[in-house]
Amino acid sequence: MNKRRDFLKKLGLGSVALGLTSCTDQLKQDVQEQSNHPCIVSTWNNQNANQTAWNTLQKSKSLLNAIEAGIQIPENDPNDTSVGYGGRPDRDGAVTLDACIMDSEGNAGSVTFLNGFKNPISIARKVMENTPHVMLSGKGAELFAFEQGFRRMDLLTEESKEALKNWKKESKYAPEINAERHDTIGMIGIDSDRNLAGGCSTSGLAFKMKGRVGDSPIIGAGLFVDNEIGAATATGLGELVMKTVGSFLVVELMRNGLSPEQACKKAVERIQSKYDISSSQVGFIAINKKGQYGGFALQKGFQFVVNTSNQTQLFDAQSILN
Ligand code: ASP
Repeated sequence: MNKRRDFLKKLGLGSVALGLTSCTDQLKQDVQEQSNHPCIVSTWNNQNANQTAWNTLQKSKSLLNAIEAGIQIPENDPNDTSVGYGGRPDRDGAVTLDACIMDSEGNAGSVTFLNGFKNPISIARKVMENTPHVMLSGKGAELFAFEQGFRRMDLLTEESKEALKNWKKESKYAPEINAERHDTIGMIGIDSDRNLAGGCSTSGLAFKMKGRVGDSPIIGAGLFVDNEIGAATATGLGELVMKTVGSFLVVELMRNGLSPEQACKKAVERIQSKYDISSSQVGFIAINKKGQYGGFALQKGFQFVVNTSNQTQLFDAQSILN
């Protein structure tokens, strides 16, 4: 394998060799292996987040720092209505956030039903690093966040208040399931030492019932990292992802030899085969130990962003339904 790489280097082909039609599959794979370390992948059109993660990785060489810094971008953005500050509230007007993070050693941290702190990803990281637990929830998570030096703030924007008022007029106070209103950020990556990590952060379903927690902070559902195999994260209707332990399933499918995209597709097909998915969206992204990445969704419209260099690329994921 090294001989092939030396040969390519001598020819000065580098990643340009990806386009060679005469390459054997193994040779193409070797080239992709070379060119995809490091690599950062995020759900939806989170280009600024992905770019920030990339820049942080270049500077700090820490993939966890990169994941945390990247996810903080939509968390801090009041115009992002599915994550952090400005996230849509539950049907009683409270913005409650969920997030989790996982590193290459198999450590994990998570917060759920967290009110009044805009960076749940950072608090999840503190749970992982500074407690013997994996998950803190509600009031306990808030107390912990405060003790760790995070400051409380009101996460409900004027725009969110208006949206809630309109929703109340239209709905019968019934929690809503929809296919389109998702942009939870799930971010996974591999560094130049081929170690993997990931994070996921969301305000959950808009106008959900008080206390509802989705897949995003659940290790194995919204995110899973196995440093021997790969990492996966999910977005969409969390109830479907939890009932199929979606991200764990994607990683296990990669363990059985599927490519990241094939594994995401198989997991989506599993959900489709078991549940009525007519108006729901679910999307997965995955990366394997070779730095190969992919995504797949139930419905058309799911996108993901990738950095393998200073440039962010946006991909339209394939889907089962169109
Ligand atoms: N998966 C998130 C949840 O169910 C929502 C989303 O991705 O938009 O809480």
